[in-house]
Amino acid sequence: MNIFYYDIAIPIPVRETFTYKSKEILKSGSRVAVKFRNKDIVGYVVQQLNDMPDFSTTEVSEILDSEPIFKPSDMQIILWLADYYHHPLGEVFDTFCPPALRKITKTDSLLSVEEPIYSILEKDKQFELNKEQESCIKEIKSLRGFDPCLLYGVTGSGKTEIYLQTAGFYLSKGSSILILVPEISLTPQLQERFINRFGANIGIYHSRQTPKQRYNVWQKARNGEIKIVIGTRSAILSPLTNLGLIIIDEEHDQSYKQHEGFRFSARDVGIKRAQIEKIPIILGTATPSLQTLKLVEDKKYKQVNLLKRANGSKPPGFITLDINDSKLESGIAKESLDAIKNTLNRNKQALVFINRRGFSPLYECNNCRWVAECKSCDARLVFHHGLDRLICHRCESAYGLPTRCPECSSSNLSLQGSGTERIELFLEKYFKDTDIIRLDHDTTKKKGSLDEIIEKVHESNSAILVGTQMLAKGHDFPKVELGVILNCDAGITSPDINSLEKISQLLIQVSGRVGRRDSNGKVLIQTRYPEDKNLKELKSGDYLHFALKNLKQKKELHHPPYSAVCLLRASSPLADHNIKFLSKVANTLNIESEISAIGPIPSIISKTRGNLRHHLIIQTGSKTLLNKYVKDVIDSILSWDETKKVRWFFDIDPIDYS
Ligand SMILES: [Zn+2]
Ligand SMILES: [Zn+2]
Repeated sequence: MNIFYYDIAIPIPVRETFTYKSKEILKSGSRVAVKFRNKDIVGYVVQQLNDMPDFSTTEVSEILDSEPIFKPSDMQIILWLADYYHHPLGEVFDTFCPPALRKITKTDSLLSVEEPIYSILEKDKQFELNKEQESCIKEIKSLRGFDPCLLYGVTGSGKTEIYLQTAGFYLSKGSSILILVPEISLTPQLQERFINRFGANIGIYHSRQTPKQRYNVWQKARNGEIKIVIGTRSAILSPLTNLGLIIIDEEHDQSYKQHEGFRFSARDVGIKRAQIEKIPIILGTATPSLQTLKLVEDKKYKQVNLLKRANGSKPPGFITLDINDSKLESGIAKESLDAIKNTLNRNKQALVFINRRGFSPLYECNNCRWVAECKSCDARLVFHHGLDRLICHRCESAYGLPTRCPECSSSNLSLQGSGTERIELFLEKYFKDTDIIRLDHDTTKKKGSLDEIIEKVHESNSAILVGTQMLAKGHDFPKVELGVILNCDAGITSPDINSLEKISQLLIQVSGRVGRRDSNGKVLIQTRYPEDKNLKELKSGDYLHFALKNLKQKKELHHPPYSAVCLLRASSPLADHNIKFLSKVANTLNIESEISAIGPIPSIISKTRGNLRHHLIIQTGSKTLLNKYVKDVIDSILSWDETKKVRWFFDIDPIDYS
């Protein structure tokens, strides 16, 4: 009897794969049940081994898939991901496997289904394209093979209509289309537009769905029953048959990068997939990332432009409001309140943006300046009015409100500063009988709450929307005429390597929610730095000009995207352990002239969940070099004693240095 040997990836945080045997031939990319450390778990078949190993092996317990769930091109991407991000292979497989299939369960067999027909529905009126949009579509239709294209469209320029008509073109050729959005909150509106245009046969895939819902969409895509999938990060390997086009909407958005665990960029995976499957990819945005702009400059990506708003309206103007001498009420200046009142009187909506949730970010003793902090993180506690608790935004620990200062026993304690919740409550009192609608992490936790909020915005006439980043992203709220930005100063003064890119995108994106139907929109920026030169330039609203200048500086400074950077983070209960470990890595790397390791540096958030955090910034000329050196150093790290005392990970292409 023949026995075959296989490399199997197990979803645990170790870098090796494991050898199992089987009497049957297993296909790469399929799942098997295996015994591992006395447990039955799912393993992923990587490849067959040519030789019999010289150690004893266990037999695969069960074959779970008759057809591989990852096809050869997916396997190429998954192996690339594990290599590029230096992440355990089994966990990479798990990330892109529908949750229902991470358990020992068989896949339904593939059906032979009739090709769905997508016809353009009568009830959806296709927009008359303007000249600019027409030439844009023409260029997109001419993309062939792996052909990345930046669709630079100012906010309100009708990118969605371009997506719809492009999708129609690909569907008519029998291809399927994958559309990635950065936030779950953006799926309903895009879904609605696609359903109105092409009927109900649209797959939605994101992490708020039940495992069953996700499996259904996954299986339908695989069977060819649906040809359009709209989803967030993990949808990027959606098994659509005959994929013809990938669209990455809001390509600049930082939500494409996973912040925990497997820190991959779904945008970059999309580009990899397009490259391997030899298909075009469209990166749509009003605020392109510097990375994308560089690739356009290098002539590796094409660029098509939509520089006018679709309905001819002018984008809103920016006005900076010097608040150095203003008395603020819950963080809002009198001038801003007057502007809001004005907007409401005209039966329009105003939007108040603040980058902070909760009621108040500071609970302070007015006698000795003691500040309430989390016991296990170095984070200040944020007061949440609705919960009547101080909450740590790092570890979600909740604390009661002390009535006396623990340092000096004074009862003279007060809440300082504002978050979305305080602003909401203040505005409710100030503008009685006006709808105040809050959109942030806390108001959208419950299932269905997001849809309700968005519906309320559309139903209300004069209303005030209060929110965090979530409010700034891609929404189309036609009645909003005024934007008030409360705390952009932190972004302007931040020493972060990419803070200018972030703040410029944010300002433009907030302004993009304003005045989408007529030319009366304006955006007030409350600031203590009205003379800041970057702020002055951004006020012109010309993002591209600002970004290209920023890019030039990056080139001179050899900062990314003109170099490759990664972060090595270490955490442990003792600072000394982190420093010894990181210093040893730095010393190992700094022997090479092509690479520099800066640090160890205490991280900005230096303590979290009881652990102290330090990091190294590792920089080199190219991604290939970085990959090689990190790989070499990981090989050494694994044998050190210093390594056993810390938790560590590499963050490749980091966007968060805190
Ligand atoms: Zn005190
Ligand atoms: Zn905490």
